Formats: sequence, C-alpha cells, structure tokens
Amino acid sequence: MDGSARIGLVGLGTMGSALALNIAERGFAVAVTNRTAARLPGFVAEAGPLAERITAAETPQALVAALARPRAVVLMVPAGEATDAQIAALRPLLEPGDVLVDGGNADFRDTRRRSAELEAAGIRFLGLGVSGGEAGARQGPSLMAGGSAQAWEAVREVLEAIAARFAGMPCARLLGPDGTGHFVKTVHNGIEYADMQLIAEIYGLMRSEGRSAHAIGEVFAGWNEGPLNAYLTEITAAVLLADDPATGRPVVDVIADRAGQKGTGRWTVIEAQRLGVPATVTEAAVAARAWSAAAAARAAGTALLAPPDRAHGPIPTEGDLEKALLAGRILALSQGFQVLAAASEEFGWGLDLAACAEVWRAGCIIRSGLLDDIAHAFREGVPHGILAFAPFFAARLAETVPALRRVVAAAAGAGEPAPALAAALAWHDTFRTARGTTNLIQAQRDYFGAHGFERIDAEGSHHGPWAS
Ligand code: NDP
Repeated sequence: MDGSARIGLVGLGTMGSALALNIAERGFAVAVTNRTAARLPGFVAEAGPLAERITAAETPQALVAALARPRAVVLMVPAGEATDAQIAALRPLLEPGDVLVDGGNADFRDTRRRSAELEAAGIRFLGLGVSGGEAGARQGPSLMAGGSAQAWEAVREVLEAIAARFAGMPCARLLGPDGTGHFVKTVHNGIEYADMQLIAEIYGLMRSEGRSAHAIGEVFAGWNEGPLNAYLTEITAAVLLADDPATGRPVVDVIADRAGQKGTGRWTVIEAQRLGVPATVTEAAVAARAWSAAAAARAAGTALLAPPDRAHGPIPTEGDLEKALLAGRILALSQGFQVLAAASEEFGWGLDLAACAEVWRAGCIIRSGLLDDIAHAFREGVPHGILAFAPFFAARLAETVPALRRVVAAAAGAGEPAPALAAALAWHDTFRTARGTTNLIQAQRDYFGAHGFERIDAEGSHHGPWAS
C-alpha cells in the first residue's frame, strides 16, 4: 500500500532538519530518514506540533513506502560520494515517474551526469541549489532548480510554498535543464565570496585607522539603511557589534585571521576561467582565503618584506568607503552574471538572467537592494550582456568608481591589502579601454615562439621583423 506523505527527505543535518520542519509547517506531510537512524526520535520530539505531519523512516525502504505516488525525495547530504551513495540506495526502490531532488551543493557537472543517468531510466531528477543557510532553510530559502519540466512540476507546489518571497513572488524557480540550478547556486556562492571579501577589505581599512570593531559595526549598520542594504551588510554590522562572553572583547577581535572554504568559490573561478570570462573579484576572494591559511609565512613576511611609507597614505572618508564598496559589489555581480551568460551559451541552457536575479532577491545570502534593479536591467536588455553597461548600473558606477579609485590608491599607499577592490577597479578600467596592451603580448609571443600576430590594417597571420 502506498503511503500518504507528499515528499520524502534524506539527511537530517543542519539543512535537512530545517527544510523538513519548513515543509511540515507549510502543511505538507513529510517522511524523513537519516544515515544515523538514532537521530530520528530526537528530531521528531523537537518538532513539537509539527510532528503529526512527520513520518520517521529508519531505512530508505521505509521512506519510499511512506510516500504517495509519484514519489518525490529530496537529498540533503554532503555533495559528491555521499550523494551518489544515496542515489544508488534509492534508485532500485523508485519507479519511472518518481522524482529525486538533490538539494546539496553539488558540482553542476555531477548533476548533469546524474540527470542523464536517472532521466534515461525514467526517474525524474532535479538539481536544486539551496541558499540561505539554516535560518533560510527553516523560514524560506532561495531555491534554484535545474532539471526537466516534469521533475519541476512534480515538486513545484512544495518548493514554492517553502521558499522565501519577494513582493509576493516565491524565490523558487526552474532556471533550465540538468545542471543549471547547481551552476547558478555555485555562481551565487562565488558572488558571496566576492562580497564578503570586499566587505572585509573595507573593514580592514577602517581598522587600520585605529577604529574599534564597535565603531566599524555602527558604520555598517548605517550603510545598511542606504544603497548598500544587503543581508551581508546587515550581518557584518551584527558580528562587529557582538562581544565575546569569555573576554568581554569584541568577538571579531578574538577570532583567528584564517577562513576556510568548501569549494564553491573555487568552482566559480575555475568555470569562469574555462568559459573565458574570469570572475576576478571572486578570484581575489578565493586567493585571500587560501593566503589566510599561510599564517607562519605571513608572520615571517612582516619582517622580510619592506613596509610602505605610511606618511603618503591619505585616509579615505566614510563616504568614499561606502561608495567603493557599492562599486565593488556592482562589479562583482556584473562578473558573476557574465559567467552565467557564458555557461548558458556553452551548454545551451537558455538561462533567463532576470529570473536568476529574481530568485536571489530574498532568502539567499547575497540578497540585496540591487537585485531587483538587476532583474529590471536584464528584462530591458543589457549591452554586450555586461550588467555594468546597463544604463542604470553605468550611472551608479559613474557615481561610485571615483571613490573606488581613491580607496584603492589609499590602500596601496598605506600597504593595506585590498585585492578584491583592486580587481574590481582593474576590470572596470580594462572594459573602458578600447585599445589595451595585448598588441605587445602578441609581439612577444611571436618573437619567442613564432606564434604570429594579427594586424590592425590587414587580414591573416603575420610575423615581426625580429632579428633571429
Ligand atoms: P550536515 O553536516 O549538517 O549534515 C549532513 C547530513 O548528511 C547528515 O544528516 C548526515 O547524516 C548525512 N550524511 C553525511 N554523510 C553521509 C553519507 N555518506 N551517506 C548518507 N548520509 C550522509 O550538513 P548540512 O545540512 O549543512 O549540508 C547538507 C547539504 O546541503 C550539503 O550538500 C551542503 O553543501 C548543502 N548546503 C549547506 C548549506 C549550509 O549553510 N550548511 C547551505 C546550502 C546547501 P548523519 O547524521 O548520519 O551524520
């Protein structure tokens, strides 16, 4: 006999538990299972009144038996081998027309592979990017789906019900086939890396002037009321204003200068390079996290590398720092959307970039006041597919890039590392320079490797008059 649960969920970790409760709270019966079945009773006990809509299944067989047909199962387990193992365990229990949804942070290439394998066997597959962390998963995440229309329609009602909303619209969308949802989530994370690094560099500049964490927190709190309004601005203010219960000091002052990463930032950088649209602000952010691990070398470098002459470093105004951060944020987003556009072209996804911006307007980590304007810009058409060229954003950049220049110059003068801010500015200046300097690169390549070069005044490949 079929069960009656609308949807199943595998993996009651941080995200899976929160999603299962969200699903139950929206009125859907949900069956759950977990590798460590001993966690099930505790989960159900903590669900309170929602427990009546939750069926705890000790095995994949029990989970599938608890579901109404066609069955739909969401996986919330670590990406990679764990996901493949769970798919392998469930696959013999499912039948054509059933739906598997992978809500983990999968590499989109794995999603393409899984999608092809499962769809060939009649099992519908949805690669679902989930953003918003634990709170988002519980209260309303941003959901980026990729897969077949049939897979989406089978779970659409549930996903739209649990998602965050912006102006009444659910932040849950089918963005395209196979790997699109996970690719869009990956680039979302790449933009997240970039924005966090830009914020950290601005914090670093204020800290270098001797301002306290609390004072800087107040500045970010004020900025969050203006054009920099964003979840990441808001939480930056909150963490800078928080004190460590053990020491009474600002908690950021007792946190080690060493940041980890799980890979989505690096994936964004690698895919962007493969596609020929380098996301250099994200690259700077990924590099900064990698360099942060080199604590001993950086300590040695303090003595081995010469310091700047700080006497020449002008101190940026708060207004300039605010504008510089806004310029950096716009440029990082512009790069991210270029990556999405290039991947869509490469894989024939037909990605609707405005829809990508729309699902990011609420629920996700990079939600900000800019995303609605980005959606409008893409709906109206963006010159050369470059967001920074859209009239609205070109105007914002005209207002803010002069401040970005002053801040990058001040950082360089003071010897304060600002790789993401500098990368954003370098992109901006490269794309406002019609004739750059790769004429010289062509000449050098021809000189040492006889690679030939193109001329400005004739077709074909040419060689230079170099002495051999
Ligand atoms: P947790 O570590 O909190 O939970 C992992 C879950 O997966 C647990 O239920 C665990 O079961 C189960 N699990 C681990 N290894 C295996 C395995 N080999 N086979 C079967 N089950 C396994 O992770 P999260 O909830 O944070 O993350 C889950 C997924 O969601 C990941 O893919 C992550 O990248 C993604 N994600 C996470 C976000 C976050 O903010 N944390 C945001 C968006 C996506 P057990 O209890 O037995 O250990």
